[in-house]
Amino acid sequence: MAGKTALVTGASRGIGRAIAERLAADGALVAVHYARSVEAAAEVVGSILDAGGEAFPLRTELGVPGDTESLYTAFDAELVRRGIAPRLDILVNNAAVSGSARIHEVTGELIDRIFSVNVKALLLLTQEGLIRMPAGGRVINVSSAVTRKSYPESVVYSMSKGALDTLTLALAKELGPRDITVNAVSPGFTATDMNAKHRTTPEGEARLAGLSVFGRIGRPADIADAVAFLASPDSRWITGQFLDTSGGTHL
Ligand code: NAP
Repeated sequence: MAGKTALVTGASRGIGRAIAERLAADGALVAVHYARSVEAAAEVVGSILDAGGEAFPLRTELGVPGDTESLYTAFDAELVRRGIAPRLDILVNNAAVSGSARIHEVTGELIDRIFSVNVKALLLLTQEGLIRMPAGGRVINVSSAVTRKSYPESVVYSMSKGALDTLTLALAKELGPRDITVNAVSPGFTATDMNAKHRTTPEGEARLAGLSVFGRIGRPADIADAVAFLASPDSRWITGQFLDTSGGTHL
């Protein structure tokens, strides 16, 4: 992937971090996007540079007015500073917020919070990114197994990921003529901050591990390796697909 630029949203921690590190190891220049975790993002960039890769931090809170504009202003400026005309070869839509709520617990505020980041910001960020995307480009959406396996414990979050799957399908057809592929990966429980509260006891840990046919909780690298395939030229004939990366959860 030498010569390619990648933007990984939400790359300061968890799955996004692993994706950023993997794409950089494969040769891409990676924008490590985040919202608040300044030190964590600097650590990710540092680890990539130490390994001989190329990366830079990109701070923008998503879900607030002007988010897309400020993100690409900073992204373009950094590429220009490096002598590269603004281009985006690989967009990984990974940043998201979650929130536990069954139907009777849902509030308008929760819907607005989750949809403003997971759907609205993601869609506008993708729209603007596509202006910079050449033939051979890749859009990879980090969805969730909850769009295929019922998870009423987080109904709004599940719906937001359903919207992302729908976007994946629609964009794949739209962008085929430009030789851009659009795919989604669907993790199950993966050991990150997002679900740390479910893993505070050995019983909780064992319950989540038992959901996978492999008897363990997913690791961020399990997802990153699948994303790396979808980002690579090897996946050129694959688009509009949902790659289950849940370790056979609920098979
Ligand atoms: P995580 O550990 O909670 O990390 C979230 C990342 O997104 C952080 O880098 C965070 O930046 C960024 N982010 C969150 N809200 C943001 C906002 N408003 N604006 C900009 N950046 C924001 O999440 P994760 O578990 O790695 O999840 C990554 C993706 O996988 C998500 O799309 C999630 O829905 C999906 N997924 C996760 C699991 C799982 O079990 N973990 C399962 C299925 C799907 P800061 O550090 O600056 O806050």
